[in-house]
Amino acid sequence: MDKQKKTVFIVDDVLTNLIVGKKVLEKQYNVFTFNAGQRLLDMLDNLHPDLILLDISMPEMDGFETLTRLKANEKTANIPVVFLSAITDKDTMMVARHYGVSDYITKPFQPVDLLLRVENQIKLMELAPMSAASVPAASVPVAPVSAPAASVAPISAPAAPVLVASTSDAPAGLLPEGHKKYDLQIPVPNEGLLYERKITCPLCGVVFMGNAVRSTKLKLIQREKDFRNRHDGIDTVYYEINTCPSCCYSNFDTSFKDVVLPRFEKNKAEISPYIGQINGVFEKYYMALKCQALFFAHSEVNTAKLWTRLMWLYQDCPDEEMELFAAKNAQTSYLDAFVKTELSAEAIQQICVIVGELSLRLNDIPTAKTYFTQARSHRSGSRALISQAEDGIETIRKMEQKG
Ligand SMILES: [Zn+2]
Repeated sequence: MDKQKKTVFIVDDVLTNLIVGKKVLEKQYNVFTFNAGQRLLDMLDNLHPDLILLDISMPEMDGFETLTRLKANEKTANIPVVFLSAITDKDTMMVARHYGVSDYITKPFQPVDLLLRVENQIKLMELAPMSAASVPAASVPVAPVSAPAASVAPISAPAAPVLVASTSDAPAGLLPEGHKKYDLQIPVPNEGLLYERKITCPLCGVVFMGNAVRSTKLKLIQREKDFRNRHDGIDTVYYEINTCPSCCYSNFDTSFKDVVLPRFEKNKAEISPYIGQINGVFEKYYMALKCQALFFAHSEVNTAKLWTRLMWLYQDCPDEEMELFAAKNAQTSYLDAFVKTELSAEAIQQICVIVGELSLRLNDIPTAKTYFTQARSHRSGSRALISQAEDGIETIRKMEQKG
C-alpha cells in the first residue's frame, strides 16, 4: 500500500465490476475491493478509506443498508460514499441523495468518467477535512433518510439538531398566505421517546427511515381544552408527520398504513416538485394537507386534525392571526366531516366538543352553543366530554350575561 496515495474502496457483488473498477483507479489510488457490504464493514475497523464506491443492488445487505450503517457509525460517517449502480430511475437517485451519498455514477460507466468523479470527491474532501461539513453540500442530511427530524432522534444525531420551524426559502406554492418566518425553538425530546422505524410509502413504495413516537412511554401531564396533550419530555406535535424522501408524500405516521386510492395516481405529479424542499415542521404539515386532499376520498377528519395541530404550532410561535386562520379551517373541516364522513357516536360527541372549543376561540358563539349542547345531550357518552361541554355552555352563559 502506497502511503502517498489516497485509498478507495469498491463494493460490488459482481466480480467483473470489481476488476474493471480496480483497473481504472489503481494507477492513482490504493484500491481495495469487497464483494459484500458486510465485508466492507468488517474491514473498516482497520482501514480508513478516503472514498467508498458502493453498489446498490447486492444480496443480503444492499447499498442503502450498508450506507445507513456507515452513517450511523461516528468513525465512518464522514467517509464520502459514491453509489455505483445500474439503477437509473429518479426515485432511487433521489432517495440516495437523502441517504447522504456524495455522488451517483450509473453503470456501465466510462473509465474516464469514473476517474474524474473519484478525483472530484477526493478534492472536495481535501477542501473540508475531517468535519461533518466534509460531506458535500449536495448531501446535506448526514443521518439516514428521514432527514431533519430524524437527526434529533437519540439513535442518530452526530450533528446538532437541524429541525427547523420554517425555512427562509420555503417552497413557493406550499405555504399559505399569511405564513411568516418564525423563530421557533423546537423542543428536543427526551431520550427514548422518539425512535426511527422503517416506513413504506403507500404512494411510491420506497422504504425509508421515519420518526415514530414511543407511545407506550408517553406520560400525560395535561390535556388542554382544545385536546392538545402535554406530555413529559416531548411535544408530539413536532414529530407526528413523516415525509417520503422520494415522492414527498406526507402524513401522520399511522396514515402511512392507509391505502391511497389508485385513481389518484396521477396526482403524484402535484407533490413531486417539492422533493428535497420539505424540511421544517410547517412544510411537513402543509404537504400533509395537500396529500390528504389529493389522495383520500374522505379527508375531512384528518384535514381538521392537521389544521388543529397547525393551530398549536402557530400558538407556539406565537402568531395569533395564523392561529385563528388555522382554527377556522379546523372548524370548517370538522363541520364538513359531519356531513360527508360516517362517524361513530363516540367520534361525533368528541368532535362536537372540539367544534365548540374552536368556535369559542373564533368568537363564533352561536356555533359554539349548538355543538356544546349537542355534545352534552350524548348522555351515554364520555363523562369527561359531557362535563367539558357543560363548562363551555357555562362560559357562554357568563359571556352573554356580561355583554
Ligand atoms: Zn413516496
